Amino acid sequence: MTTTAITHISALVTNDPSLGDSSPLGLIQDAAVVIEGDRVVWTGESSKAPATDNAVDVGGRAVIPGFVDSHSHLVFAGDRTQEFNARMSGRAYSAGGIRTTVAATRAATDEELSANVARYLAEALRQGTTTFETKSGYGLTVEDEARALRIAARHTDEVTFLGAHIVSPDYADDPAGYVDLVTGPMLDACAPYARWIDVFCEKGAFDGDQARAVLTAGRAKGLHPRVHANQLGHGPGVQLAVELDAASADHCTHLTDADVDALAQSETVATLLPGAEFSTRAAWPDARRLLDAGATVALSTDCNPGSSFTSSVPFCVALAVRDMGMTPDEALWSATAGGAAALRRDDIGRIAPGARADLVVLDAPSHVHLAYRPGVPLVHEVWRRGERVVAPRPS
Ligand SMILES: [Zn+2]
Repeated sequence: MTTTAITHISALVTNDPSLGDSSPLGLIQDAAVVIEGDRVVWTGESSKAPATDNAVDVGGRAVIPGFVDSHSHLVFAGDRTQEFNARMSGRAYSAGGIRTTVAATRAATDEELSANVARYLAEALRQGTTTFETKSGYGLTVEDEARALRIAARHTDEVTFLGAHIVSPDYADDPAGYVDLVTGPMLDACAPYARWIDVFCEKGAFDGDQARAVLTAGRAKGLHPRVHANQLGHGPGVQLAVELDAASADHCTHLTDADVDALAQSETVATLLPGAEFSTRAAWPDARRLLDAGATVALSTDCNPGSSFTSSVPFCVALAVRDMGMTPDEALWSATAGGAAALRRDDIGRIAPGARADLVVLDAPSHVHLAYRPGVPLVHEVWRRGERVVAPRPS
């Protein structure tokens, strides 16, 4: 197999402290990376790089692992521009939120939904995201949920069944009946296409007992839990996530000290989604408190048409540094290695021998520029599985 060296890297983030300086980012100055097939086979200082078949000079730019976006909702149709505009203009808006997207998604063809996923994936890739998770949750019938997952699985391995997003409008008077549907026939139809099961555990969606029923039923079918927890207020979501060894508790905006302690003493990652607080003008999650307690923190977009319509991880990194108490190093780690941990993956989120060759060349000498130069398109090129999938912009 041919080998390719990426050379003249000003600063390389490996996320492997054994390779670079001893910080969690494992930084190496004046570095090179050698790729063979879809894998990284060597990482280190340029002067020590082995001979290779090909070389690509990145001209003194920084290189980071591809972003791992561990939380998105991309199988949908329509948008909610008017709802956002009304919310940001201080006007009341009474249309149905998620229900609006459910109606549009049910009415869409498979081709339309698949084209939508492909479009947002391409958008995310251009911004450096090389792995993304996505969920169902806008179908809420057996057929529509299974269809959403079937379509999602064509685009990513990280597929999550979220039939328990909201109680289907068809079951408005019978939420218990809807939980029976989700944990019975809907789960049977959806499990073959999914790796994960998720539930929106929140007042107005599913309470602790209902969420537990959904997650344990999914686990019995071989799906691993993750939980939308403590976004809008305090609740049982985080504790339930830890108790069931969920890979991730997502949002974590309203936490008690006991919630923070539980996360810190568990393998459950706290995934923070600042795009949601940005787009709803809500209070930020406190990343500093979680990090100081020793919890593992991931950063993700929550890309969805209602509450966070951004596919940009760099935007989330900038918000986390500006408003959530994270250092630039911590935010980058959380958007790469943190996302990998939230998906229980060790082959992504780092640039080290054996890892997948997923990496981003920044048009900047350091990863710190992601937060220092917010809103600027700094992604110069993207490599995924050893192939350059986003080429440099013509200068
Ligand atoms: Zn979500």
